Amino acid sequence: MLDFTNFKSVISVINHFNSEDVCRQTLAEVRWGDDVVCPHCGQHHCVRRADGRFRCNRCKHNFSCLTGTIFENTKLPLQKWFIAMYLISSHKKGVSSCQIMRDCEVTQKTSWFLLHKIRGLYGITDEIALDGEVEMDEMYLGGRETNKHESKKTEGTQGRSTKTKTPIFGMVQRGGNVVAMKVEDAKGATLMPIVSQFVESGAVTYTDEASIYHKLSENGYEHLFVNHSQREYVRANDIHTNGIEGFWAHFKRVIFSTYHMVSKDYLQRYIDEQVYRWNTRKWNASQRFEDMFKKACKVFDYTDVLSLSSVVSIEHFREYRMMYYNLWKSTHCA
Ligand SMILES: [Zn+2]
Repeated sequence: MLDFTNFKSVISVINHFNSEDVCRQTLAEVRWGDDVVCPHCGQHHCVRRADGRFRCNRCKHNFSCLTGTIFENTKLPLQKWFIAMYLISSHKKGVSSCQIMRDCEVTQKTSWFLLHKIRGLYGITDEIALDGEVEMDEMYLGGRETNKHESKKTEGTQGRSTKTKTPIFGMVQRGGNVVAMKVEDAKGATLMPIVSQFVESGAVTYTDEASIYHKLSENGYEHLFVNHSQREYVRANDIHTNGIEGFWAHFKRVIFSTYHMVSKDYLQRYIDEQVYRWNTRKWNASQRFEDMFKKACKVFDYTDVLSLSSVVSIEHFREYRMMYYNLWKSTHCA
């Protein structure tokens, strides 16, 4: 089995993945080990054909180690994919598509596509549960009106207005993980269900004075807050929201310094990327690369479909497979 601790720099990635064959072999090994499973019907122990692809002896489909992964149908050498994956996972502030374009010798269009596919992997995480002491806050992404040209200014966009800005809601467990997401608006009715989904009841929550958080105590949380409008930032040493503010500061730095501009449609992917970086901040580059590599091998297959209660037998599987596979692809790989 491949020892990922050897990947200490991008040089070691280039040296190891020195041919398309090695890339494919490694991918197949990490994806299946010794037991090649058919991505179409779940049959085990499929046989390797002379051309390097596999054939299922039950459903008679041919497939390769790329079938169902983000690499499916790629025309780019896998080595370039893996270099890009290493770069994006090892740089603390992320890499721009211009950087990948130069480092991997691809066009900017390819580079942009590559980064978005890879970034899509960050969203695949097990649901994180926050407990203990949890800070929460919302931030707004979008230019300040005062900095805009007269012709581009919009009236009434101060404060929590979402006319020209996109609200992002974040929660951090002190000393632990962050959860953050783009939201429609920053109203209590929108945010409370998100809090219940991720924060264990009984947790101590810290916020600013905003009225949207007043319902926290009714929802089974202890609620303590500071009054930012009164310039109160810390009370009694531990009542503050400095943890989540720190995450926002980091997030804004990355968005403005590396990516410069982020479209609303893809914002969640950039958030996922920074949340992932934050939650794996104690890992080194090779651990992050290993995790990303394994995520890239994780595909929607037979066992996932069977876990859906609507699929009752293998006969149903084929039709459901296409439907859910397309759905899976559109959320994770588009
Ligand atoms: Zn099969």
